[in-house]
Amino acid sequence: MIIAIDGPAAAGKGTLARRIAEHLGLAYLDTGLLYRAVGMKVVHAGANPEDAGAATEIAEGLTPDDLKAPDLRGDTAADAASKVSAIPGVRAALLSFQQDFASNPPDGAKGAVLDGRDIGTVVCPDADAKLFVTASAEVRAERRYKELLERGLEAIYTAVLQDMKDRDARDSNRAVSPLEPAEDAYQLDTSGLDADAAYAAALNYINMRNQSG
Ligand code: C5P
Repeated sequence: MIIAIDGPAAAGKGTLARRIAEHLGLAYLDTGLLYRAVGMKVVHAGANPEDAGAATEIAEGLTPDDLKAPDLRGDTAADAASKVSAIPGVRAALLSFQQDFASNPPDGAKGAVLDGRDIGTVVCPDADAKLFVTASAEVRAERRYKELLERGLEAIYTAVLQDMKDRDARDSNRAVSPLEPAEDAYQLDTSGLDADAAYAAALNYINMRNQSG
């Protein structure tokens, strides 16, 4: 069983994907981490994340250990990720990693949950269930802002909102694999939902797909 979960930053995909994977005994891959790892390796190599040659070479040589780097959750990584992810060579290099994970999930799991931007449209177009998780930019910025404060970091709400909008625009407007719902995706707007309500709605949809398939 393969479940694809796509959507913009801070819509709640990661939390949802992790819970669903645990509940159904499936392996979980956060595909944003692959782009973050490539972005940070490019930055550490002193190159520009928009340099297609450098970024593609790094993406082609990415190893599972690179996903354990300590600085992948920060804003520098998010910004670099959103730049390298527009490069066709980077996307091509990461596509086979993601498809291998989906077809041969680790630890003998009987399927996988992948979350990202183009899982339902490009990586796993035949997924058994596809969710597109959204929330307004303001709600997502508010969540991100609170998360930063809880981590003891300084943040300004308007700057977080602007970053979110810039990243949305880059993800949605790029030529290769832009962020968009698959035609057959179930769209879940989490603006007015807490994590439990979003999880219940997602599970309900997955169960329905399972029964009809
Ligand atoms: O999901 P996360 O915020 O970690 O993703 C970081 C960046 O990686 C996104 O802004 C997006 O540009 C890119 N990404 C992508 N395709 C995916 C996952 C992430 O382009 N499947």
